[in-house]
Amino acid sequence: MTARILVVDDIHANVKLLEARLSAEYFQVLTAFNGRDALKICNAGQCDIVLLDVMMPEMDGFEVCRRIKSDSRTQHLPVVMVTALDQPEDRIRGLEVGADDFLTKPVNDLALITRVKSLVRLKMLTDELRMRAETGRELGVEQILDASPESGGSHGKLLVVDDRPSSYKRIVQYLATEHRVSVATDPQEAIFRAVDEEFDTLVISMALTDFDPLRLCSQLRSLERTRTLPIILIAESDQDAGVIRALDLGVNDYVRRPIEKNELLARVRTQIRRKRYNETLRQSVQATIEMAVTDSLTGLHNRRYLDSHIGGMFREAQETGKPLSVVICDIDLFKAVNDEFGHDAGDQVIREFANRLQKTVRNIDLACRYGGEEFVVVMPDTDMVLATSVAERIRTEVASHPFFVNNGASQLSITVSSGIASIEGGEDTTEKLLKRADVALYNAKRAGRNRVVTEAA
Ligand code: GH3
Ligand code: MG
Ligand code: MG
Repeated sequence: MTARILVVDDIHANVKLLEARLSAEYFQVLTAFNGRDALKICNAGQCDIVLLDVMMPEMDGFEVCRRIKSDSRTQHLPVVMVTALDQPEDRIRGLEVGADDFLTKPVNDLALITRVKSLVRLKMLTDELRMRAETGRELGVEQILDASPESGGSHGKLLVVDDRPSSYKRIVQYLATEHRVSVATDPQEAIFRAVDEEFDTLVISMALTDFDPLRLCSQLRSLERTRTLPIILIAESDQDAGVIRALDLGVNDYVRRPIEKNELLARVRTQIRRKRYNETLRQSVQATIEMAVTDSLTGLHNRRYLDSHIGGMFREAQETGKPLSVVICDIDLFKAVNDEFGHDAGDQVIREFANRLQKTVRNIDLACRYGGEEFVVVMPDTDMVLATSVAERIRTEVASHPFFVNNGASQLSITVSSGIASIEGGEDTTEKLLKRADVALYNAKRAGRNRVVTEAA
C-alpha cells in the first residue's frame, strides 16, 4: 500500500525527519514549508494525505486545514494535525476545522505509521466510492449515488470491552457524546455480542485482568461475522510491543492512556467512516452485479444470468435424482404488434407479459427474458406433466385477458406458444435440454401457435 504524503512544517529539520521515516515505509513524500505551498499541492491533486504542523508563521495549520476542508476539490483529503503535547486545546480547534486525526510532537514512529496507513485505507475507499458514484451517474444508476460518501462517522453503535468500572465509565462518558455505547466486562460476552449485534466499532482495553486482550482480538478476526469489524485498543503507555502484535493481528488502531477525549472520538469516527464506506462499496458492487444480470425492460433476469445458473440447477437435479424442466415461451406474431401499434406499445406488451409470467411461476422457478419476445423458465423439481400444466396456465393467463397499451387507448389480444423439455438420463446436457425445448417451440408455432408442445429426447 503506497500513497503520496504531504508533510507541511515551517521547520526544515521536522520535515526531513518525517520524510525519512515515511520514505522508509515506501510512502512517496512531498514537502511544503508554508501553508500557501501546501494548498497549491493539495489543489493540484498531487497528494493523498496531509501531515500538517499547527504552528507556522503567516498561515497556521488550522487555517490550512480549514481551507482544505472547505474546498470541494480537496475536502476528501485526510488531514493529520501535528500538535504539541502540552496543548490539548489544539485538538479541539483541529476538530473544529475538520482535522481527521492527530499526532503529537515528538512524533512516535509507531503512531505515525499506524495513523497514516489507517487514513490511506480510508482514502482509497473514498476514492473508489467517488469513482463508482461517477460511473453510476454516467450510467444513470441513481441508487449508487444515494449512498453518498459524505456520511460521517458519528451516531455509531459501539461496544467497550473492559472489566474495570473506573476505566470503562470514563470511556463510555467520552464516547456517549456522539455514539450509542454499551459495555461488556467479560471477553466471552464480548464475542457473542459482537457476532449477534451490529456494532460499528469495538473499543477494547488492553488491561483486562483475567484475559489476554490479544487472544480476544485474534478470535474476533477469525470469525466470519467480525472479521472486518473495526477494533480500537486502549493501551497502557508501556505496551508498545503488544500494540505492534495487535496491529499485526488486524487491529485497526489504538489510543494510549491517559485517554484524551477528542483523540479517542476522532479515531472512532475514522473507523466508523471506513466501515460505512466499505458497506456502501459492497452495496454498490451488488447493485452493479444485479444491473448486469437484470433485463432493464422487464426486471426479469437476463440471458447472461440464465447461462450462469442453469448449469448449477441442472447438476443439482442430476445429483438428487429430481426432475427439472424448462419452458421456452415466445409471443406469437409479435412483429405485427410493433408494425401496427408502434415499438413503444410492443415494449408495453413485453413488460405486461413478463408480469403475468412472473406471477404464474413459483419463487424457486427461474424466469428470464431470453431475448426479444422470448422467455425461458427453468423449473426445479418439476416433471414434464407438471411443467405442461404450468405452461398451460401461462398460455391461458395471456390469451384470456387483453393487453392494454398506449395508456389504455388500445386493447390487444396476445397469444403465446411454448416448448417444454425435461431432464432425461445421465447423457443429457443443458444444451440438449434447451435445444429440445426449442424444437418443441418450433413445432408449436408450426402447429398453429397459442399452444404448448413437449419434446422428448
Ligand atoms: P412468431 O409467432 O413466429 O414468433 O412471430 P413473431 O412476429 O413474434 O416473430 P419474429 O421473430 O419474426 O419477430 C419478433 C419481433 O420482435 C421482431 C422484433 O423487432 C421484435 N422485438 C424484439 N425485441 C423487441 C423489444 O425489445 N421491443 C419491441 N417492441 N420489439 C421487439
Ligand atoms: Mg414471436
Ligand atoms: Mg421470436
